[in-house]
Amino acid sequence: MARIVMKFGGTSVGDIERIKNVARRVKAEVDRGNEVAVVVSAMSGVTNQLVDYCTQISPVYDAREYDAVVSTGEQVTTGLLAMALQELGVDARSWTGWQIPLRTDGAHGKARIQSIECDELVSRMQRGQVAVVAGFQGIGPDNRIATLGRGGSDTSAVALAAALQADRCDIYTDVDGVYTTDPRIVAKARKLDKITYEEMLELASVGAKVLQTRSVEMAMKHRVRVQVLSSFIDAPGTLVCDEDEIVEQELVSGIAYSRDEAKITLVNVQDRPGVAATIFGPLADANINVDMIVQNVSEDGATTDMTFTVTNADLSRAVKVLEERKSELNYERLTQDSNVVKVSVIGVGMRSHAGVAKTMFQTLAEKGINIQVISTSEIKVSVLIAEEYTELALRALHTAYGLDAA
Ligand code: ADP
Ligand code: ASP
Ligand code: MG
Repeated sequence: MARIVMKFGGTSVGDIERIKNVARRVKAEVDRGNEVAVVVSAMSGVTNQLVDYCTQISPVYDAREYDAVVSTGEQVTTGLLAMALQELGVDARSWTGWQIPLRTDGAHGKARIQSIECDELVSRMQRGQVAVVAGFQGIGPDNRIATLGRGGSDTSAVALAAALQADRCDIYTDVDGVYTTDPRIVAKARKLDKITYEEMLELASVGAKVLQTRSVEMAMKHRVRVQVLSSFIDAPGTLVCDEDEIVEQELVSGIAYSRDEAKITLVNVQDRPGVAATIFGPLADANINVDMIVQNVSEDGATTDMTFTVTNADLSRAVKVLEERKSELNYERLTQDSNVVKVSVIGVGMRSHAGVAKTMFQTLAEKGINIQVISTSEIKVSVLIAEEYTELALRALHTAYGLDAA
């Protein structure tokens, strides 16, 4: 007997038939004698619709009200799945974040999980009841619903698995595992049997949305065995595990992209000590994450251009913050561009091998793709390019690094 957490994403619970299919999968685990908690997302498209309603009312909405709205999709699917399980003769009940309670910090819209009180869940699971838990949501210190950022149900699932000391956390989705790159864009993408926590963390953090970044951080910290697999076909998935469980390590293990980037340039900012702090301090205070940054060398020693990226969701707020401080920051003008994509190559092999970046730049040059911003880390190289080249760049790089499936 094992204790397992099963998580089903939006497509997997996208309509009533699919919810019934999920119920059958859950029942199969129960029939094997396992204690089961299930985490569900909202039906596919629902969260996008709810976010859209919020931005139609105000592009700079109150994040607490945003959370009140966007968390509702998950409440629907928990109730429906609990009913579908009951129909199959399985004892089940739904749980919202606040009922558990799953406590978070106060960063509405991208809250972090702080604790999960699961004594009640455990005693019911031990009696054979399936806990159907709403992903993506918890309760903040202000006693209000807080959501965990887009794709946050993965994190709910891994956090619950850690809190329940579960033997496994199975993430069921619409692809049958983690691939070398998004299989929906690159047909020659190859499925990985295993991937290290570290590489999965990098892949996720640069846009491979198959797992939310925080879920991988959490899995790595608590050593949760995470498996990514399909809710539609029975096939072995991908295990996210420690480096020493993987025999052969590739130089480049994956390529990811993120369309969720927007570029801001402050033209002619004063080139003086403290200018970066003056720009990025207020953005951090407004809870806006800045990703890539380039500061040009100033030709005249007096002014320079500062280019950086934020998520599309934060763009309006970032521009507002910077415009409000225009006189203090003393820049000439602000330009913004959301038609950009960040493409990244990842591999732990980069630590010991040179040439990964060179291959990337050459491949893009051969396709006539201009690189706007570059950033690197120990096991990653990222470039910002025009969005229209996403597919072309991914396919060319996938081939250049020898990742194409046979
Ligand atoms: P869910 O709704 O189940 O959470 P998501 O849409 O969030 O599913 O994540 C699954 C999607 O992630 C896939 O449909 C695929 O297009 C995308 N994806 C991006 N990169 C990868 C990758 N390297 N391997 C597998 N899927 C990936
Ligand atoms: N429903 C939320 C979203 O679409 C959470 C999730 O699916 O993981 O972002
Ligand atoms: Mg997801």
